[in-house]
Amino acid sequence: MPRAGAFIHSDEIERYHYPPECPFKTERAAMTRTILHSMGLYICDNTCEMAPRPATEKELLLFHEPEYLEALRRISKGDFRADDLYRGIGTSDTPVFADLYPYAELAAGATLVGAELILSGKADFAFNPSGGYHHAFAAAAGGFCYINDVVIACKILEAKGRRVLCLDLDAHHGNGTQAAFYGDPDVFTVSFHESGKTLFPWGGFENEIGENRGFGYNVNVPLPAGTDDDTFVFAFGEIVPPLLNAYKPDVIVLEIGMDILSVDPLTHLSMTNNAIADTLPLLVKCGIPLLAVGGGGYHPEHTARGWALAWTILCGNEPDAAGTIGMGGMFLGNAEWSAGLWDGRIYATDENKIAVRSQVENTVTAIRATVFPIHRINVQ
Ligand SMILES: [Zn+2]
Repeated sequence: MPRAGAFIHSDEIERYHYPPECPFKTERAAMTRTILHSMGLYICDNTCEMAPRPATEKELLLFHEPEYLEALRRISKGDFRADDLYRGIGTSDTPVFADLYPYAELAAGATLVGAELILSGKADFAFNPSGGYHHAFAAAAGGFCYINDVVIACKILEAKGRRVLCLDLDAHHGNGTQAAFYGDPDVFTVSFHESGKTLFPWGGFENEIGENRGFGYNVNVPLPAGTDDDTFVFAFGEIVPPLLNAYKPDVIVLEIGMDILSVDPLTHLSMTNNAIADTLPLLVKCGIPLLAVGGGGYHPEHTARGWALAWTILCGNEPDAAGTIGMGGMFLGNAEWSAGLWDGRIYATDENKIAVRSQVENTVTAIRATVFPIHRINVQ
């Protein structure tokens, strides 16, 4: 039986936008759908499109404070007050706009639809490209995020007795998600991201490994600016398979921010979508149900193309590169995209590569020394 999957999207969610000057473009989800549809890779025998629904108040309260939700609703209706700045709202990264609450509630609900499909066994994998708001805290917004759909989905899965591995591959540290589960061993949070030395939210270091019962159940792999695909794939291979084997999650929640790409205007990594193409199959092959969400990605076209590639991999439907020459570019009018959905690989110069690699090797060694023994992983 092929694995059953759902792409969570609808015409309704396409109606909502952040203010035009904001680099966060909700349009990326629709663009992903358009690319896939144009290439005949969107819906196959074993996959379907599912419409999101708004998250309910009860679901939002699984993580967020009632006063914070009330403030979001009030602000969305045009009543912004000075003290809302203390809730992290009203900055250039968390603008005030009319669509704020209806969009945030629908985008979060989209992730919860995916979680429901996985819990019911109707889907083995689901992808909500409109999800991944990992910077939202219980009572504070941050980094374009108001409602943390990732946390709420993990809490719902956890409440149904599932052991959850929450793997965040966005270029930014998943700080809101880490905070939610820092003391909780039933949701194991792992974040690969550009180091907090050079990027918002300025944290997520390798010595942050959880507390109390959750000690050892939070892993951060900070990557230096300039990290390329090879070094990312190396770090992923050293950390993720041993943790998967030891923890044996029932569900993987995966955030695939495409702000890892070298073309991203807000980040400083030197990666391409091959980094995802080289690692995602490992998660698919392990056969654990997988709930994927989008996240960051501030070059909209490249982000959509990366998510289109990720969806084809989740579907086990990777197009033959030779058979789709030029198609990804053709449908989006970008002649540079001569290899279909795949980016051209970027090869770092030797000097940069050696500097970055040795820093990442040190990080991996530190994690293997501190976290692996807690899970009785034999470190050779
Ligand atoms: Zn990001």
